Formats: sequence, C-alpha cells, structure tokens
Amino acid sequence: MRPEELLVRTPAGLWCRAGGFYIDPLRPVDRALVTHAHSDHARPGHTQVLATAETLDLMRLRYGEDFAGTAQPVAYGEKLDIDGVSVSFHPAGHVLGSAQILIEAAGTRIVASGDYKDAADPTCESFELVPCDAFITEATFGLPVFRHGDPAAEIARLLGSVALFPERAHLVGVYALGKAQRVLALLRQAGYEGPVYLHGALDAFTRYYASRGIALGEVRPAKDAGKAELAGAIVLCPPSALREIWSRRFPDPVTAFASGWMRVRARARQGGVELPLVISDHADWDGLTATIAAIGAGEIWVTHGQEDALVHWSTQRGLAARALRIEGYGEADDEAG
Ligand SMILES: [Zn+2]
Repeated sequence: MRPEELLVRTPAGLWCRAGGFYIDPLRPVDRALVTHAHSDHARPGHTQVLATAETLDLMRLRYGEDFAGTAQPVAYGEKLDIDGVSVSFHPAGHVLGSAQILIEAAGTRIVASGDYKDAADPTCESFELVPCDAFITEATFGLPVFRHGDPAAEIARLLGSVALFPERAHLVGVYALGKAQRVLALLRQAGYEGPVYLHGALDAFTRYYASRGIALGEVRPAKDAGKAELAGAIVLCPPSALREIWSRRFPDPVTAFASGWMRVRARARQGGVELPLVISDHADWDGLTATIAAIGAGEIWVTHGQEDALVHWSTQRGLAARALRIEGYGEADDEAG
C-alpha cells in the first residue's frame, strides 16, 4: 500500500480511510486520534477520542468533562488494532503527554509526529525516533534562521537581569500549556529557589503537571501578592497579558517573552519585549533536518509552518517530499512557538 492510500489529506485533517479515523481533526468527527492537548490539535466535540491519558486530562481541563463523547487513553508503545490498521503512540518531546502516532497497514508505516522537539525537556518524555516509510513533520521553525540554542543560557540571561534589577518585577510571557511549566523547571534546574508568581490563566495546567510528579518548586498566585513582594520577583503570564492593564500593577516591570519567535529581534521590538528569551517547544531548523536525516523515511510530508524550505531541503537529499498545506494549525494563541 502506498502511504497516500493509507492516509489522505482532507479539509478536516489527515484521514485514514481503512481505520475510519482522523489525526488531530480540525472539526468534530466520529473518531479522532489526538497527538497533544494544544488547542489547534485537540479540538472539542469528537464522538470518540484516542490519546494519551495526559492529553485526555489536559483536554478535560481545557474544555470541561464533556469535551468528547468517549475518551480512550493509550499508553506510549501500546499497540491497538483499529479495523485492521495498527496504531501506536510514541513520545514527541513537545509537551506533557504529547505523542507521535504510528499507523501501519499492509506493511506500510506512517508516523504523524504532531508538534515535536528533539531538545531535552524536564517536563515531558523525550522524542523517540520511530522508523517509518513516510514521516509527517511540522515546520513551525522550518527556516535556517531559526536556531534556538541552549535554553539554560536564556534562563541565565533572565536570572542575570533579575540580579541587575532587584527592584523591578520580571514579567515573562509564556504559553499556558508546556512553556510555563518548562520555564519553571528550567529555573529550578538553574538553582533558582524563590517563589515564582503565576497569572491565573497558567494555574490549572501548572497544577496538573505538579500532580504528575514534575518538580516545579513553589508557585504563588500573582493576584494575591503586594507590590513590595513583587519587587525582584519572576512572574509568568500569557503573552497577551504583557500588553494588558493587568501588567501595570507590577513595580517597574521588565517584560520578557519565552518563544522560538524571539530569534527574530524585530518581532520582539514590535511586541515591546525588552528581554527576548529564545526557548521553544518546537524543533528548530537543525532539529528538523537532523530528525529527517535520522529517521530514514523515503517520504517526507511537511505541514504547518514554513513548509517550502524543508521540502526543498528534503528533495535535495533524494527524498520524496511534499507540503500538505492543511490550514488551521499553529494559529491558537497558546501554541505559537
Ligand atoms: Zn503544540
């Protein structure tokens, strides 16, 4: 069976005809396999959802108990048979519970990686290379200009600024699911032991990570803290809050933003970000190309992001590569890099 017979591009997302399921469907469907809980991949209203237990829990937190008709958890590496199609989930290293989905029928193997990164992350399982005939890769940072570097060095810059301006609050824009918790874990790895203050929008996901045994240290609600307490403090908030009236209550704030997009300094300037921190939960150009080179798939399907450069790179190396051009991913405000 050719890969494009096993998995078909439709306006609702990638569809496996033989198994009767979609992967990360963009609209409500009967049977959905969901790679991870970011809102552009995990949408509410499906009849049946199959995902890791963490992804299902995070979807419940995001959308409420009735986010789907039925929800079936699957463990990493567990093999399921769906109408003759073999399906298994493997760590994607993107956020807690994130998975690549391997589907296999008649000897043909396709891996839909969802979003992924090959960099170390103390808050989730590491990306696993899964051999396949066709590899579906994201391309959020699919241009050679995107090289994320070492996140520990970015955290060191944040802590350097806190030491330099002990009277100012440091407001760090972070995406609510994944980035907030990773920045907390990175701060603890760097030896920062003080309480970290959280915007209320980050509370539920952060509590969930802690409940899964991920060490994040002491966090406090920012809303309960007085101005004196917040001098020299680190406060995490959604990126949008940096520009809202909410941020005015902090003493002379330094605004920071943790995102792969901060490699583009013009973007930081436009957003009024004083301290851009290049920390991303997506693979950078080197990570994408190293993964494609290592995985050994003859076909590369490129989706959401900067598709063309990665298609060109793959084609030059003798791989059959194409852009999927499915609209609707990478647009959610908690999932922008
Ligand atoms: Zn994502």
